[in-house]
Amino acid sequence: MSTVETQELTALRAAVSALGQRHGRGYVREELWAEAAKLGYLGVNLPEEHGGGGGGMQELSIVLEELGAAGCPLLMMIVSPAICGTVIARFGTEAQKEQWLPGLADGSLTMAFGITEPDAGSNSHRITTTARRTDDGWVLNGRKVFVSGVDIADATLIVGRTEDARSGKLKPCLFIVPRDAEGFRRSQIDMELAAQEKQFELVIDDVRLPGDALVGEEDAGLLQLFAGLNPERIMTAAFAIGMGRYALARAIEYAKTRQVWKDPIGAHQAIAHPLAQAHIELELARLMMQKAAALYDAGDDIGAGEAANMAKYAAGEACVRAVDQAVHTLGGNGLTREYGLAQLVTASRVARIAPVSREMILNYVSHQSLGLPKSY
Ligand SMILES: Cc1cc2nc3c(=O)[nH]c(=O)nc-3n(C[C@H](O)[C@H](O)[C@H](O)COP(=O)(O)OP(=O)(O)OC[C@H]3O[C@@H](n4cnc5c(N)ncnc54)[C@H](O)[C@@H]3O)c2cc1C
Repeated sequence: MSTVETQELTALRAAVSALGQRHGRGYVREELWAEAAKLGYLGVNLPEEHGGGGGGMQELSIVLEELGAAGCPLLMMIVSPAICGTVIARFGTEAQKEQWLPGLADGSLTMAFGITEPDAGSNSHRITTTARRTDDGWVLNGRKVFVSGVDIADATLIVGRTEDARSGKLKPCLFIVPRDAEGFRRSQIDMELAAQEKQFELVIDDVRLPGDALVGEEDAGLLQLFAGLNPERIMTAAFAIGMGRYALARAIEYAKTRQVWKDPIGAHQAIAHPLAQAHIELELARLMMQKAAALYDAGDDIGAGEAANMAKYAAGEACVRAVDQAVHTLGGNGLTREYGLAQLVTASRVARIAPVSREMILNYVSHQSLGLPKSY
């Protein structure tokens, strides 16, 4: 394994991989979630004083990557411990930390994350979900779309806006909305995805929340939001690398044994080279993910921002190409249910679109890294 990881991280990788191999592609999400939590893997990034492992994104990304490489990714790790856990640990009140972090760490509580809106999409400056202050708390109104796992989450961290009393400008703010809050309605979106976690459209209709539903400062919402988005990109990279590795491993096994001429098909360079290329691209993406996680864990939010975006981009592209080549390597069997690779064609596209699309990362790098002018 890689020389950039410490012995502890390499040992964690091996232990999680063993857990993943025991569950495999036919995993039952709830069982794996509970076992991973019991072993301390789900809360490995959360503070020790609140029941977590005291590690960071380096540890958490290894957990998701290795489970994915074994065919059993836990999508909710991207949102529950990584985004929501991070935001609450960094900006929540003591009461919010006590209420949520031990449960997020031991897996007894799960939190979803909702930012995407039907009329805003990639342009999150355009979101209109709005919170209005009342005498005893807040009233939230708006709509969200594509939010994952709302049905299995105890609450959803909703990105909304509050109105600045002086300027009238809307400022981003984060609210914890319990699953069964009155006026908080969800409908499942019919996705062409073979994932155990579902996506939902949300209607937030005069949802009344107590004062302590607001996470962090009303005036620092943007900073708090960004603190959660870097972990989200790092974890999406881990998700994509894991899936790419899983598909590639199936293709390699097949290419070593499938024989239609004198030698196994893996002896033909037209089969071997694209697989070697996919392996190189996944390794490179992982290197950038490790850089992003190391910068984030060292407290460098700005440096981590660029690296996390680049890692998510590289991992998404590497995953799509690895899956495509894996399916091709299996010939007709690549499209059978029995071999289970065809369903990854759709799944692999998720990392290209979510949580931020390939194009928006290219925009970010064009503007932030290269200093080129903006077209929008
Ligand atoms: C499986 C899945 C799970 C998800 N889970 C969650 C979740 O848990 N919570 C949540 O909040 N959201 C979630 N999302 C939503 C996801 O983050 C969005 O789909 C994503 O941000 C893109 O937004 P959009 O779908 O509205 O696309 P749009 O913004 O409509 O973009 C459509 C296309 O136009 C391109 N485009 C847009 N603007 C530009 C531009 N300026 N320059 C160049 N190209 C541009 C995009 O790159 C994209 O290819 C999930 C999505 C999926 C597919």
